[in-house]
Amino acid sequence: MSPMKRLLQSLVFLSAAAAVLGLTGMSLAQEAVKPAAGLPVRYEELTSPDFIQAVAKSGGTCIIPVGILEKHGPHLPLGTDLLDCRELSLRAAAKEYTIVFPQYYFGQIFEAKHQPGTIAYSVHTMLDLLQETCDELARNGIKKIILVNGHGGNEQFLQYFCQVQLAAKKDYAVYLYDPSDDTSVADALKKMRKTTLDGHAGEEETSSMLAHRPDLVHIDRANDQSGEDQNRLAGLKHAYTGIWWYASQPNHYRGSGAAGTKEMGETMFNLESGVLAEMIRSVKADTKTLELQKMFFEGSDKPLETKQKK
Ligand SMILES: [Zn+2]
Repeated sequence: MSPMKRLLQSLVFLSAAAAVLGLTGMSLAQEAVKPAAGLPVRYEELTSPDFIQAVAKSGGTCIIPVGILEKHGPHLPLGTDLLDCRELSLRAAAKEYTIVFPQYYFGQIFEAKHQPGTIAYSVHTMLDLLQETCDELARNGIKKIILVNGHGGNEQFLQYFCQVQLAAKKDYAVYLYDPSDDTSVADALKKMRKTTLDGHAGEEETSSMLAHRPDLVHIDRANDQSGEDQNRLAGLKHAYTGIWWYASQPNHYRGSGAAGTKEMGETMFNLESGVLAEMIRSVKADTKTLELQKMFFEGSDKPLETKQKK
């Protein structure tokens, strides 16, 4: 429908509604600011007036699920990481209300530039875009921002992003979801796992997609390419180098997607959404991070006044 036709139809509907209900334009406007029943969790689905309610209901929290656009073996979609971490965030938000930010795929992915469909933004763009997104959320009352990462290549980038939050004074905090101290998911998956090598578009990721978007999984193509570790830097000792992933997995595939099952994916989402919901609750209750940040920024303005004795 054209925008003009839609506008005309809306005007016709509104005048009809006003006539039937005997309402004036003013009372219709007042009607519009009432909060919607069942506040959406998806940022893009909230109306501007409902956004105020959502900020209050979420305790000023919002998740940014951070994905990427990259190859996922020969059988999974380019947006796998984004689709998965957004699904996880939505399931967690259904358990513990928070706002979930729209599709965010502006992360670190230089290592897949040789594969079709990769979108690799420059270093400054990825840092600036995430910072400005956080600044804008904070300007809108969201003082606790939760990053939920869906992409292995973002891990160091997002930790670095958290570190640099201390570079300049701010009135908000960034929390990175880090369930490394919770073994419930790993323990449950250990019993179900059929493969020993996994890590990218393998058993786990194929299972997650089978659980929520089976229509995007081309399981019959999962063995079209090799997901074996090619180990091409085996002679290098005690060293890290940026080409390590390409050295091991040039097909941008690690493991075997053919082993994936819907059951394993469901188990992952069910358990992990509970862990993430627990994190959201703890972030909502946390007052210490912002208090310590404030103390730190005040101290960093006048370091010579920082006490050097007990
Ligand atoms: Zn992935």
